[in-house]
Amino acid sequence: MPSIFSRIVAHEIPAEIVHQDELVTAFRDASPAAPSHILIVPNQEIAGLNQLGPEHRDLAGHMLLTARDLAAREGVADSGYRLVINCGPEGGQEVMHLHMHLLGGRPLGPMLARE
Ligand code: AMP
Repeated sequence: MPSIFSRIVAHEIPAEIVHQDELVTAFRDASPAAPSHILIVPNQEIAGLNQLGPEHRDLAGHMLLTARDLAAREGVADSGYRLVINCGPEGGQEVMHLHMHLLGGRPLGPMLARE
């Protein structure tokens, strides 16, 4: 079964795609946590960060640079933004297709509430 993000990459289900190239697709999160909330996903289905290997070095770098470019396009490069990759159950990963969250457009507060 392809992941829901693979189906977005393939344009099989709707999403507001803001960028797509040969390696990655970026689209707006369906349930945004900030005025700018974009997901950057590899076109290739990789379950998560633990499944990245040395052969994905270019892809990993490209995800980061794409996020940087999208932050500029969203107008949050100077005000600031946050990149998040959730990994595994305790990391809060819900969709088993590697993705990077780009969040910005408001003060995001501390990274995590301290217990
Ligand atoms: P994570 O908890 O890191 O796995 O994040 C998954 C994210 O995917 C959540 O922020 C969801 O709101 C988002 N999401 C799930 N389904 C869709 C979809 N069909 N289109 C856009 N975003 C989605």
